[in-house]
Amino acid sequence: MEGLQDKLRRPLQDLRISVTDKCNFRCQYCMPADIFGPDFTFLPKEEILSFEEIERLAVVFSKLGVRKLRITGGEPLLRRHITSLISRLTKIEGIDDIGLTTNGVLLTKEAENLKQAGLKRVNVSLDALHDEIFKKINGRGVSSNVVLRGIEAAIRAGLGVKVNMVVQKDVNESEIIPMAEHFRDMGVTLRFIEFMDVGNTNGWNFQKVVTKKEIFNKLAAHFELEPVDPDYFGEVAKRYRYKDSKTEIGFITSVSESFCGSCTRARISADGKFYTCLFASKGHDLRNILRTYPDEGPLVDKIRSVWERRTDRYSDERTEESVRRKEKIEMSYIGG
Ligand code: SAM
Ligand code: SF4
Ligand code: SF4
Repeated sequence: MEGLQDKLRRPLQDLRISVTDKCNFRCQYCMPADIFGPDFTFLPKEEILSFEEIERLAVVFSKLGVRKLRITGGEPLLRRHITSLISRLTKIEGIDDIGLTTNGVLLTKEAENLKQAGLKRVNVSLDALHDEIFKKINGRGVSSNVVLRGIEAAIRAGLGVKVNMVVQKDVNESEIIPMAEHFRDMGVTLRFIEFMDVGNTNGWNFQKVVTKKEIFNKLAAHFELEPVDPDYFGEVAKRYRYKDSKTEIGFITSVSESFCGSCTRARISADGKFYTCLFASKGHDLRNILRTYPDEGPLVDKIRSVWERRTDRYSDERTEESVRRKEKIEMSYIGG
């Protein structure tokens, strides 16, 4: 089957699969506790794709050109028996890389099982080492030590580890240098993510963003850095290396230097909706097709027609007005 290109000639290469919309954190920039409180209604079980349905989808996407899968959420390690999904996905022909993005809380328990199941890498989110700052950000009072122990367990298990830090003005800027030092010494890549206007609940505005340039200037006052060339078309992070070591840092510059021109990524929500942009307001239902037709044909036709018509360029075109648009999907639902 031929690979797919959208209208802007961007190939379909990566697929992010959200396996749950639930989370054990309430990060203020993603699931603010006052909105995602005890009365918040998450997806009911019957609406969530089964592992068999996710596998069928992944097979079809791989035939259409996808080579990389990333499991995400909500918090993907909250999905029961997630390792059995990973073992199924590793057997799909054409998929050469499976990663998972996690807040790290359950990694100490799960790292070895994930590795045994065939997972290659984890991206662990950690926004501060300083306990008071981190406890406040994660909204559940969880200490950074819990996540640090998870990261160590992942390294011991032989998983590739990168750490993601969302930087917010006046919240955790003071943690940029301590985080950089800590992970440089551990030989772990740290990636700084610009705070994004995903969803409608996190009170985002341009003033709360710390740009790559600002972060880079802080780092450059402490460390000698040199740029690293991208490994492949569509690589999202802008990478640098500490001059005196092999350890890298990266920047995800969705706000200050958008990269829609090389966006090769599709996303599936836990209830089987297909999104062609993180900032979309509408997904395309694949669950109904999965549950109605046992053969691949209708699914292939749907995915093909959606991707071939795709013209998304939200970050390239971001304006004060688009930021205020009210119907954007939430990050915890689409998985980042
Ligand atoms: N729960 C997992 C975790 O936190 O790693 C996976 C899902 S989470 C939605 C995926 C990534 O999105 C995390 O690295 C998180 O920090 C990032 N994220 C969430 N909200 C964000 C925002 N408003 N701006 C930038 N990154 C955000
Ligand atoms: Fe949960 Fe991840 Fe969102 Fe934090 S960023 S609330 S850990 S889904
Ligand atoms: Fe891709 Fe949409 Fe992000 Fe642009 S804004 S890089 S099209 S997900």
